[in-house]
Amino acid sequence: MKCSVIQVTKRCPLDCPQCYMVKEDAEMTEAVARKVVDQCLADGFNTFQLTGGEPGTYSCLSEIISYIRCKSDAQIILATSGYNMTKQRLENLKKCGLNAIFVSLNGYYSAVNSNSRDSAELAKAALIAAKSAHLASYINWVAREDNCKDFDDIFVYARACACKGICVLKNFPNYKGEVKGTLSEKNLQKLANRILETNGYAKVETCYMEMLKAMGESKDLCDARNGNCVFANVDGSYSPCSKKTYIKYQNITELYDNNNRWMDQLCQQEVKGTDFQIDFSIC
Ligand code: SF4
Ligand code: SF4
Repeated sequence: MKCSVIQVTKRCPLDCPQCYMVKEDAEMTEAVARKVVDQCLADGFNTFQLTGGEPGTYSCLSEIISYIRCKSDAQIILATSGYNMTKQRLENLKKCGLNAIFVSLNGYYSAVNSNSRDSAELAKAALIAAKSAHLASYINWVAREDNCKDFDDIFVYARACACKGICVLKNFPNYKGEVKGTLSEKNLQKLANRILETNGYAKVETCYMEMLKAMGESKDLCDARNGNCVFANVDGSYSPCSKKTYIKYQNITELYDNNNRWMDQLCQQEVKGTDFQIDFSIC
């Protein structure tokens, strides 16, 4: 799978404590979005993930999904907080060609979710709407010290909503560079064991090296660094991933032609305020 993650907007009406991006009143024009899709298809990308900000606010959402579907049979997925994801809207987006939504929910209980995300209610409403619209759904769940004990509740809830799976994500610094809620080593291992017990229903993103290692599945490089994933910014430039947008190139070829240079930059990055030793050679 080669995945192009397209940031269609930097707008978002929510205010999540863990948000890693600086929100701006900017969205990708339809012309730029079409250009990005064309370039990614030409470069062999077969999965498109539309993200933000909150893509539910994007003015050309149905148009760009229809455009991708018209040109290819690529997988089209939407990463959302659940904002404005009603049953009717999801039915319409499905008709345009959308294959699945990934809804961010960090805790079954609002009190747990609110340590890192703005609204559990929005996310739950979107998952129920997806079920009614017969659209495939997944839960994006960031593993943290304050929600690791809630994993079983999320698992039960995901099953009840007929979700296809849970995507376990790494806890990154927020836009101020602060990392809060880092898993202790003991809970990291406990969670790794619990994820293994789900027999593949919960999957760990390739970027989350510590968790993969604890599960006995360590990899050398994430998908961004081995060329299987690219991040398109709202202005149409390309970065390795959503967390490394300070590295920017005008086209995908240029990004990967310079991969030694940007990998060096990644390894030199320092994150301040961490309470846990991170191996920066793997971000
Ligand atoms: S994490 Fe996503 S949903 Fe939350 S404020 Fe940031 S852009 Fe919005
Ligand atoms: S480049 Fe670093 S932050 Fe980005 S996906 Fe890879 S490991 Fe994660």
